[in-house]
Amino acid sequence: MKGQIMSYPLTTNAILEYGNRVFPDQSIISHLPNKTRHQYTFADLYKRCKKLSNALVNTFGVKPGDMIGTFAWNHYQHVELYYAIPGAAAICHTINIRLSEQQIEFIINNSEDKIIFVDASIAPMLEKMASLLVTVEHFVIINASDGFTTTLPNTIQYEDLLKEVSDDFEWIVVDENDACAMCYTSGTTGQPKGALYSHRSTYLHALSIMSPNAGCYDANDTILLIVPQFHVMAWGFPYMCLLAGAAMVLPSLNLQADAIIEMLINEKINKANGVPTIWLGVYEALKKNPPKEKLALQEYLVGGSALPQSLIEGFERDFGVRGVHAWGMTETSPLGSISRLQPKHKKLSVEAQLKIRAKQGIEIPGVELRVVQEDGTIAPRDGKTVGELEIKGAWVIDSYYKTTSREKFSDDGWFKTGDVSTIDADGFMEITDRTKDLIKSGGEWISSVALEIAIMAHDKVMEAAVIAIPNKKWVERPLAGVVLRDKDKKVTPEELIAFLSKNFAKYQIPEHYVFLDEIPKTSVGKFNKKEMRRLYAEGKLSRST
Ligand code: ADP
Repeated sequence: MKGQIMSYPLTTNAILEYGNRVFPDQSIISHLPNKTRHQYTFADLYKRCKKLSNALVNTFGVKPGDMIGTFAWNHYQHVELYYAIPGAAAICHTINIRLSEQQIEFIINNSEDKIIFVDASIAPMLEKMASLLVTVEHFVIINASDGFTTTLPNTIQYEDLLKEVSDDFEWIVVDENDACAMCYTSGTTGQPKGALYSHRSTYLHALSIMSPNAGCYDANDTILLIVPQFHVMAWGFPYMCLLAGAAMVLPSLNLQADAIIEMLINEKINKANGVPTIWLGVYEALKKNPPKEKLALQEYLVGGSALPQSLIEGFERDFGVRGVHAWGMTETSPLGSISRLQPKHKKLSVEAQLKIRAKQGIEIPGVELRVVQEDGTIAPRDGKTVGELEIKGAWVIDSYYKTTSREKFSDDGWFKTGDVSTIDADGFMEITDRTKDLIKSGGEWISSVALEIAIMAHDKVMEAAVIAIPNKKWVERPLAGVVLRDKDKKVTPEELIAFLSKNFAKYQIPEHYVFLDEIPKTSVGKFNKKEMRRLYAEGKLSRST
């Protein structure tokens, strides 16, 4: 027997309508590429989205299911695109501006973008490949300054497009299971692959991320969205903020630590998101130049790569700011798990609490996690047994765009993450590695992530990334790339070995250390171990021991 409940489609339009109805005066603040500040309300956003959807349908002739690309920083116009493209029943395809030229060309052609909305400051990146982008009929330029010129064909400026149309527009009706957005993986493991999100998955993900055990956001919050809108829909924050009634601050290209600190202070930001590299940079800058008054910032949500325990500890001790660790993937919209202490943990020592907070955390409502061992059996939840992490849930992809390969899916339909992890008796998941980054030495597995986190806890070390290098006797041995906090305060490999020997068995400790100016990073700021392995293979990572 079916329940007797109305059919109420969970769509991005429903999110926008809610934000406009309930929190019309809440703010969206943008620090634009030309360094000016722009502020308007959810009600303004609503009206401009209506205009933009109208222009898409009636000026450009966009049809349901058309793919519309965005190539842009975080700002209000990009938020408008997040809502207005699905409002026209089309799909908002956010293109990662930090991918290689070849990858960008590949994903635009693969997705068959019909129109691309591009920030003037990065238009030159598309100019080079414009002749190869065969499906693109128009380029709409955002944030063009006076006198802006481009060799892109068929261009119109964003404001000129909006000027011509009225806000009297009815959203094009969609089914909640229709696609509303698409994002390609960053391709650290091969050619980028498209994850196609539905209206329903986007709505439910936003609700879940907002909930108290997850992000815990509400109408009192002013949130800085550092995660790029071109990467996994900025973790769904532009949708979540309208449901929560939280003010958004959007930094566009102002992502240097000093610029972030200025925004944290001037905009009285109390919550923020971002990858660990960003927060490490902000922490170091704050230490060098401590703020005169206590920051309004209470909490920063970190994901994308492991949040070092030393950073959680340092930020909280020195500035009273809490780091909250989360895990997710492009394929999971992205949020899958988050680490917050539970009442039973309150009686533990601070050190034991920190260890739990440094784990990737418990599954959020709407998804399930399991760890599968090499023999195919499900690992016990004992915090020790490792295997590949698998996930299923209401915002996890069930296939990649335009591919039929089932390689990443188990026979019973779970998504295989490629992350190696454990789950403990309280349900806290901890990632020890990515399958391809594990080091197998003398038949034993060594976790590169555990080593990195331990090395980064050393006073003189800012960043560390560990890769496997070939070894005749042991097959593989770990090599640590290390960035010093202060070049004049050196640390020797012997000191690091002694430091690590407290927590690691002898065979696990790297004997090879390379001191670098910086660790190569991926398009979204993660350690690029593929690049490190390539540099090593070409003899460009010289060993100091
Ligand atoms: P890509 O796979 O191209 O790097 P994603 O941004 O989707 O693109 O990355 C997802 C991966 O990032 C996860 O599978 C995991 O390896 C890593 N990751 C995400 N969050 C964390 C975290 N909190 N700790 C460790 N690794 C993480």
